[in-house]
Amino acid sequence: MSKNIIKSIKDTYNQFFSKEPINQELISKNVLAIINTLQANNFEAYIVGGAIRDILISLTPKDFDIATNAKPEEIRHLFKNSRIIGRRFRLVHIFFGRELIEVSTFRAKPEKVERLKNGILKDNEYGTKEEDAVRRDFTCNALYFDPKRNKIFDFFNGIEDLKNRHLNMIGNAKIRLAEDPVRAIRAIRFSAKLGFEIDNKLKQQIIQVLPELKKIPYSRLFDEILKIFLTGYAENSFKLVNDFNLAKIFFPSLQSGSKETISFIKRGLKKTDERIFLGKPINPGYLIAVFLWKDVKILQDNLAKKTKYPLTALNDAIEITLNKQNKIFPIQKRFITTMTEIWQLQPRFENLNKKRVFRLFAHPRFRAAYDFMLLRGEENEVNEQIISWWINFVESTDEERKALITN
Ligand code: ATP
Ligand code: MG
Repeated sequence: MSKNIIKSIKDTYNQFFSKEPINQELISKNVLAIINTLQANNFEAYIVGGAIRDILISLTPKDFDIATNAKPEEIRHLFKNSRIIGRRFRLVHIFFGRELIEVSTFRAKPEKVERLKNGILKDNEYGTKEEDAVRRDFTCNALYFDPKRNKIFDFFNGIEDLKNRHLNMIGNAKIRLAEDPVRAIRAIRFSAKLGFEIDNKLKQQIIQVLPELKKIPYSRLFDEILKIFLTGYAENSFKLVNDFNLAKIFFPSLQSGSKETISFIKRGLKKTDERIFLGKPINPGYLIAVFLWKDVKILQDNLAKKTKYPLTALNDAIEITLNKQNKIFPIQKRFITTMTEIWQLQPRFENLNKKRVFRLFAHPRFRAAYDFMLLRGEENEVNEQIISWWINFVESTDEERKALITN
């Protein structure tokens, strides 16, 4: 290679280097160790995706994605505690106790655009990091950080966009959204999480592609939708979801809901955000139970007028609501079980009979159902005395509880 060419390659590289400081204290030691091992074996390895973006705007990264030119088998070979996953899109999961780190091999856009049966673009040809960057979604998600050199590769001015709080699609937004309409949901999610502006043009393009979401397998959609509400910015997201009429595709009650419905959902979202910031676990089933509760409640009240058995009315209302929801946007079975249990346990809080109180208290879903009852209480759905009784009971010691019950 001539000296000139080498110099020009170097210049191009320097042009993409950013000296923006990254606080490596915020990066998991295990991630740094993986990168170290890969580099020591003459592979390139970078931290990419949300982690670098989040650190640059002073958010704590949620998890780390590593990108490398090592092939899955080569990665697998270097790390005993690893596993290759995925058939079409092969990645390596490396485990360190409870921490799981995803390592993916640089990919290139395939020569010819091919859509698989599940609606995703065929996307499994290996490439260089530049090619890998081109197929990522937003400029701020395509920052490649090399911890050893303490430098970021920023191919699309992602850092500038971060500073301007601007969400910018890589390449032609219309084409990128058509390639994978899920990017529309991701745009809404990031805009809510980061508080970033989506300009009018992109807004229109997003609105236009939303009907295409129907073609995406719901299991994939489900994860992205849940992420909107489960990453700590649900209140912001809810507003955006409404602005984009997104709810009508997934949870119609979010859209057409009465004032009470919306108020209840907002309370639920606020509590969810608080829990996430405190590092407490979140059960998605709980949140969906909040979304659909008012539908269940209204139906239950109507059915109750026609029967002597209030519990039958509740069970029927649950069944009808879930059937209706399943036709629109099916909810995964494991969540349905949680939701049904939370709803079915609600009337049992009204009964303060000794045996029943302890049975309810010992129920594996008690905590979620209790939180749900408190939430209903805030909307004056539960008698105040019942609420204070339960709060007192839950916050007491075992001994005190026994005394409470006998009284
Ligand atoms: P979060 O903090 O929510 O995890 P993230 O940006 O890391 O945000 P992930 O879903 O973990 O989001 O994806 C990791 C990276 O993979 C993204 O930053 C982006 O570069 C790329 N990516 C993910 N999904 C897509 C997609 N549908 N189209 C293009 N690139 C994507
Ligand atoms: Mg991520």
